[in-house]
Amino acid sequence: MGKKLKFPIYAQIIAGLTAGVVLGIFSPEYAAVGGFLGTMFLRLLKMLIIPLIFSSIVMGVVSTASASSFGRLGLKTLIYYISTSLLAILTGQFFVNVLKPGVGTHLRAAAAVVPATGFSLKDIFLNMVPDNIFSAMANGKVLPVIFFALLAGFFIGVLNEKPRRTLTELMDAVYQLMMKITGFVILLAPVGIFGLIYKTVASTGAAVFGNLLFYFFTVLAGLLVHFFITLPLIFFLFTRRNPYRFMKRMLAPLVTAFSTSSSSATLPLTIETIEKKVGVSNRVAGFVLPLGATVNMDGTALYECVAVIFIAQAYGIHLTAAQQAVVVVTALLVSIGAAGIPMAGLVMMTVILKAVHLPLEGVGLIIAVDRFLDMFRTATNVFSDSTGARIIDFSEHRRAESASGPQLLK
Ligand code: ASP
Repeated sequence: MGKKLKFPIYAQIIAGLTAGVVLGIFSPEYAAVGGFLGTMFLRLLKMLIIPLIFSSIVMGVVSTASASSFGRLGLKTLIYYISTSLLAILTGQFFVNVLKPGVGTHLRAAAAVVPATGFSLKDIFLNMVPDNIFSAMANGKVLPVIFFALLAGFFIGVLNEKPRRTLTELMDAVYQLMMKITGFVILLAPVGIFGLIYKTVASTGAAVFGNLLFYFFTVLAGLLVHFFITLPLIFFLFTRRNPYRFMKRMLAPLVTAFSTSSSSATLPLTIETIEKKVGVSNRVAGFVLPLGATVNMDGTALYECVAVIFIAQAYGIHLTAAQQAVVVVTALLVSIGAAGIPMAGLVMMTVILKAVHLPLEGVGLIIAVDRFLDMFRTATNVFSDSTGARIIDFSEHRRAESASGPQLLK
């Protein structure tokens, strides 16, 4: 055991991250090498996403045996997602209203950098249902794939014995295979993370911050409170376990989320780590985490709220209490609709700006620091998903335990 702990994977990842920062600052001229390594790692992760999400959700639903236990798991997951995202938004709302980072800043929108998006709230819901499951898979559209997987898992469960067994075994085999490949890709994480961070630090210097520094720290303060206080507190309340020990065990996916800025790309690692290192059951992890990676984005929700109110402040526009309430609700919906990919939150922000009639060019104000904020909010997103999976697994164990005598809870 002593041998194994010598240079564990999370320590290797931190070493990679540190080396990336140092080289990014002192030797930015070779950043292209970092870019190559990082992109290779990202591609490997992305390669796993669709088959992993599909097989894990189908298995998660199939193994929830009955419609009522599926409903129970779904309901717990939904309640957890919505309440933690709302808590995150309210934290952000508090900080941005108290600190007022936009008031008095005379920012002018950088021209022509506003990402055009035709999204509306209606589209967010419509896009959840695939019109062609194969094209959704081929184009990496996660939400429609989840929708189809939920249906497939549910209806496999009501098939006759023979086709049910065949499909369940097939899906399980695909899932096992994806987890094996994930285990292999994780070994490359330290190098991949080194490359991603090297490239980011070298290409986005500290100069971009300028007068956005105050805004940056407002979002960061909210994220840190949610990450280090709110979520650990919820974790403790439900499990009576040490949340920081859990955080440490989840370090590899957290650092990966930070470096890739993508909850979806991190998903294989999140599932593997929470099952192997924390002992969360495959049934819960396979259901809660893939869903969470696209739907549950506490960090993104918090950031949307702060950014929109910041934009209003910067333009000198007063938002009434009713308008702020609209911001809160749309921030929640937008965080559900945003994909787990880099800077998805920035693109979706126009939906909220439209809802409260703020100038869409406002997005141009905050774009410069978005890449960095994305790292922090993605890590928060992944931590919230993981915390949810652990809590729900715990409560499912409790149920099983009271139904069939005691069993070991890690
Ligand atoms: N990058 C974030 C994620 O993947 C989404 C966002 O806020 O842009 O979780």
